Amino acid sequence: MSEQILNDVLSSLKVISIPTRTKFRGITLREIALFEGPFGWAEFSPFLEYDENESLPWLMSGIEAAFAPALPMKRTEIPINATMPEVDDRVEIEKILSWYPGATTVKIKVGTDLTRDLARIAWVKALSPHSQIRVDVNGSWSAEHALMAINSIYEIIGDAFQYIEQPCATIEELRRVKGELKVPVKIAGDEVFRKAQDPFAVKVTDALDIMILKVAPLGGIRRSLKLAAHHKLPTVVSSALESAIGLSYELKLAATLPELNYACGLGTGSLLQFDVADVTIVNGHITVQSLIPDQNALDTLRASDERFAWWQDRIRKTWSAGAAQWLERESEEWK
Ligand SMILES: [Mg+2]
Repeated sequence: MSEQILNDVLSSLKVISIPTRTKFRGITLREIALFEGPFGWAEFSPFLEYDENESLPWLMSGIEAAFAPALPMKRTEIPINATMPEVDDRVEIEKILSWYPGATTVKIKVGTDLTRDLARIAWVKALSPHSQIRVDVNGSWSAEHALMAINSIYEIIGDAFQYIEQPCATIEELRRVKGELKVPVKIAGDEVFRKAQDPFAVKVTDALDIMILKVAPLGGIRRSLKLAAHHKLPTVVSSALESAIGLSYELKLAATLPELNYACGLGTGSLLQFDVADVTIVNGHITVQSLIPDQNALDTLRASDERFAWWQDRIRKTWSAGAAQWLERESEEWK
């Protein structure tokens, strides 16, 4: 059965290239593969520098979306946060906030330069005084620097400081920060799970208060639910800068979780100039639905033949990194 899945993925494959509205994660063009199975459309979009081992969970998440039946949903409206890239211009910050109508939580990217980070955070606080603010460091601080920087941020935004996301790279450093922190700020882990060889083996006790779930790098909804149940931490679902198709699957994870107490980072369609379907934010929420890519958008955004061939090859290589074994392990539960 599994080779048939690979054939179906390749025969329905579309590759698109979407310009971003602002530089995010250092990129201005987002390349994305889409494919279709009996249960709908799915996305495969690991960042270009990821090797086949790191890309494997992304492929398996897409395969689950297209080839496994959906799980029952507990909610259909998902609260989302605004996502603020590392921009410093006040006018641009204001413009970006306007892309998220009704959102009452803002996530701010930091980590390159603390002075500029603090200024960005202060601007967001001034422009959006009633919002909760979370700050994402992507693991770039030492424990020492994190303790100092978190204090400085807390001085500016006080109790609006909802959590600090992945201030340091390792779980040991995160544990030290949590142990020595003097201000009431929660610590969330993201890379510590999605970049781990085995995310189930991460020792979260006394290190983390919240876990970030990203359905694609964690290998699908079923595996993300198992991981959340295993670690017993409150969760926030967040995107990997997917198109509407990938976002709709992240939204389904948020819809399926037993509990959802935080806004999710799933409004990131706003960071793209165009999209293949509609994931409109209304009143700070997005409605969960199955989406079909718009044919006109697929034509307009179509990547070159050369890039298409590169993605075909990438899918074959990623498949060879262990997809058949993965399906053998996991697809029993796809009934
Ligand atoms: Mg993050």
